Amino acid sequence: MPREAPVTSTARPVTCPSCLRAAGRPARGRAGAYHAGVEIDCLFCRIVAGEIPATIVRETENTLAFRDIGPKAPVHVLVIPKEHYADVATLGQADPALAGEVLATAAAVAEAEGLLVDGFRLIFNTGGYGGQEVFHAHAHLLGGAPLGPMLSR
Ligand code: AMP
Ligand code: ZN
Repeated sequence: MPREAPVTSTARPVTCPSCLRAAGRPARGRAGAYHAGVEIDCLFCRIVAGEIPATIVRETENTLAFRDIGPKAPVHVLVIPKEHYADVATLGQADPALAGEVLATAAAVAEAEGLLVDGFRLIFNTGGYGGQEVFHAHAHLLGGAPLGPMLSR
């Protein structure tokens, strides 16, 4: 089976959230261009900006879905808002509509990957106890095989 080639996101440029916040403007505007700012250190912002390749499976105006580089299941896709929010709690409080768009994209990917019949798992690791390693809000969409118990203790 041919492997998917990594591709970069097509919607450029994205707004630099730091500049918008520094200017006292809403972070979801689309007026400016992304450039080397605070979030340049954010791995997922750099994927959104097209600076780091990823295997993108779905892109909407405000969200991006790409395959996890270290898959933990036959299907393991990360779904993110293009705008930088540190975690799902910050995202959900600041922009519930965008959080909903992330869920809608996750659902569309689940359908496209054939996960709706057998089911799947959606995980938002958050903070230290949640095991979050990349501090740009993201959902892990996992499926394609039985996933076992939710937590091992
Ligand atoms: P978390 O522990 O919830 O923050 O998950 C971060 C996820 O990002 C991990 O599952 C990593 O395998 C994944 N990851 C790290 N770097 C990349 C990358 N360049 N492309 C795709 N996924 C990545
Ligand atoms: Zn980011």
